[in-house]
Amino acid sequence: MREKAGKVYLVGAGPGDPGLLTIKGLECIRRADVIVYDRLVHPTILEHARPDAELIYVGKASSAHTMKQEDINRLLVEKASQGKTVVRLKGGDPFVFGRGGEEAEELVEAGIPFEVVPGVTSAIAAPAYAGIPVTHRDFCSALVIATGHRREGQGESDTSDASDMSDTRVFLMGVENLPNIVSELVKNGRDPQTPVALVRWGTRTEQETLVGTLADIVQKVKEAGFKSPAVTVVGEVVNLREKLRWFDNRPLFGKRVLVTRSRDQASGLSELLREHGAEPIEFPLIRVSPPESFDELDAALGRIDEWDWLLFTSANGVRAVMDRLRALGRDVRSLKGPKVGAIGPATAEEIERLGIRVDFVPSRFIAEAVVEEFPQDPSGKRILLPRAAEAREVIPEKLAERGAVVDVVTAYRTESDGSDRSDRSDRIREMLNSGEIDIITFTSSSTVKNFVKLVGGSVPEGVKIACIGPITAETAESLGLKPDIVSDEHTIEGLVAALRKA
Ligand code: SAH
Repeated sequence: MREKAGKVYLVGAGPGDPGLLTIKGLECIRRADVIVYDRLVHPTILEHARPDAELIYVGKASSAHTMKQEDINRLLVEKASQGKTVVRLKGGDPFVFGRGGEEAEELVEAGIPFEVVPGVTSAIAAPAYAGIPVTHRDFCSALVIATGHRREGQGESDTSDASDMSDTRVFLMGVENLPNIVSELVKNGRDPQTPVALVRWGTRTEQETLVGTLADIVQKVKEAGFKSPAVTVVGEVVNLREKLRWFDNRPLFGKRVLVTRSRDQASGLSELLREHGAEPIEFPLIRVSPPESFDELDAALGRIDEWDWLLFTSANGVRAVMDRLRALGRDVRSLKGPKVGAIGPATAEEIERLGIRVDFVPSRFIAEAVVEEFPQDPSGKRILLPRAAEAREVIPEKLAERGAVVDVVTAYRTESDGSDRSDRSDRIREMLNSGEIDIITFTSSSTVKNFVKLVGGSVPEGVKIACIGPITAETAESLGLKPDIVSDEHTIEGLVAALRKA
């Protein structure tokens, strides 16, 4: 039997923002048996690896190399020779000052097949995320990407060719050596008033930008204690930042926000947070699962026309009812009869998606509004509420006070999400303690309860707690977590708006 042939993929992971990984790169990571990765690779990218993949960190903080290049080369050859699919994952692009060329040479010599998957290089992306286009017709006609520290005997840096003074020059690995780079440029005739920008941790939540001129940037870097990893951009294009800033001026820029909703529901909130500049960290604390028994729900669905109103309190409830109908060999047509209400816009949207018109959505998404704004006199009306097993009683009680006959049936349950729990909760605790998380969001009482159970009943000072509404806030308070932000409008949009305001 022939052994499976190994192969090495030299993959660019992009500059940081996990969305800047290529589709091909992602496919390689998903398939890999072994992933050999650098310091500049964003950790969330590794979450796409197979659970049984071997992840090997080979470091490379520019000063303290964790593994020598020869050892990395040897490692790649060794793993591939065992028939493994190896991904050599590098920050940015593997062939832009990533020593990918040297690794490829080594593979050729060892007769190991390989492919290169280019990545988005920090040389272009970090300036772009700082609002600096590295070329622009009005300001330059060439772009030079140079290393800021050269091998011994090769001169300080590539600044000797001053033929086109309007070039944009981007230096990688150039923070320590900045004084030399700057003096070389000026010595070669570049105007000391030429603007310069340093972009640190470009495309990430931690992105920082420092702007100056060749005349004062060295002093500014010193004063600010500005450190690597950063790219240095020299050229008139730097002035465009004022006008073209788009990333680091968004209202929630730089904030890391913990999203605790169920996996299915997290994405909407995460997307909205990203849109406003925050980095969502998804840590699902609850999971939607079937009720202990479907008897109640089945019975209700069997005689649905006995109710005047079918009132949904969550998108989960809508999905649970539809799933159950499907399981019973039926569909949306069985819901004929009652009028349909939704407690909030997300719930209404879920219903509308089924082609059902929603007859009632209150203007505010709390029990009081439901009762006050109910489109008919509730008295004598029969109302069916399919919802979570552990839901609160406020809505049915208030409606009943007005004379409605309310039937509550359990359509689903939320339980704590057990998947890879202890690992993740340790990691979250670590992130909280090290100040990496700025805000925790709670979108229901059950997320609060599970947070306390899994992570604990206190958070370090400085970490803000944001709740979607007063009920969730009350639960948080009762468990010792003091809410700092409570949204007025009890929706995901309302929550994000409250974060912006705060
Ligand atoms: N192959 C990489 C570059 C590797 S050399 C690429 O194409 O991006 C390492 C240098 O890249 C760092 O010293 C720094 O100058 C730069 N760099 C990498 N990622 C960066 C980021 N997110 N922000 C700013 N500079 C970055």
